[in-house]
Amino acid sequence: MAQSVIRTVVARYKSAKSNGHQWSEVHFQLPEYDLVWNRDYSLNQDLFSVNTLSGRLKFKFEKKAMKRYFNGTWKFGTAKLVHKFNKWFLHIPMTKKFEELEPQNVNHVVGIDLGVNFLATTYDTHGKTNFFSGKQIKQKRGHYQALRKQLAKKQTASARSRIKAIGSRENRYVTDVNHQITKALVEHYPRGTCFVLEDLTGVRKATERVCVSHRYVTVSWAFHQFREMLTYKAAMKGQLVIVVNPAYTSQTCPKCAHRAKENRHKKTHTFCCKNCAYTSNDDRIGAMNLHDKGMKTLCGGTILA
Ligand SMILES: [Zn+2]
Repeated sequence: MAQSVIRTVVARYKSAKSNGHQWSEVHFQLPEYDLVWNRDYSLNQDLFSVNTLSGRLKFKFEKKAMKRYFNGTWKFGTAKLVHKFNKWFLHIPMTKKFEELEPQNVNHVVGIDLGVNFLATTYDTHGKTNFFSGKQIKQKRGHYQALRKQLAKKQTASARSRIKAIGSRENRYVTDVNHQITKALVEHYPRGTCFVLEDLTGVRKATERVCVSHRYVTVSWAFHQFREMLTYKAAMKGQLVIVVNPAYTSQTCPKCAHRAKENRHKKTHTFCCKNCAYTSNDDRIGAMNLHDKGMKTLCGGTILA
């Protein structure tokens, strides 16, 4: 049990670092306990059995939503026991092997451009574009910002703790939106689809200078989360996610390949090629170029994801 505490604290610092957060002391407000499957806990259709300092205890649990995980195909991982709202919750990571889609079996490619105005813009092999609006998330962000400003003026302890609460509510909201969009994407496109995302590792520092109101772009964890969610959801549906180098995807003309900064007008969100005059929405251009890069990557046989 003592070892589990050390591991948990170390893991928390590690994830803060890998998420690019500034160093700050980690606090645990709620008691939690990591349980290793078959050593500290086990679970069958009827009972949850757990190792405690006073021996092994067995409990009944709420199992309605759990039923489908007992069919033998799911593996239970190290679980976290959490006390919240006067109840005990067990968070169990579950894994299941799915047959992976091989790159040579891809029959449909979808480029996905992630941004502020349209959270996700897609361009697929049939030349079809889809926009997943980010308007709502922008409004919500503005609302939370105003609330934070108001509270900051008060400078009381309760105001400070409310600011913190708003932060985590906002994060939960982004997580929820990511869930919705990734779910819509894997449901919209058929089995055999390969989604192409831009590889954002290493560009975080460059985007940090973007103004605060465009936080969704700068907070790279939201993108990482999107990529992770899409990857596992796609795998479950016989689809694939690859990442490509995003260099010049917003400045290059997808029709004539002419590359110039001036092709793109950030303010009006339009793209107009200085060479062939091809004009379109700039997010759509990003998705088109990602689609093309994805096609080339698949044909060249180098998969980065
Ligand atoms: Zn052009």
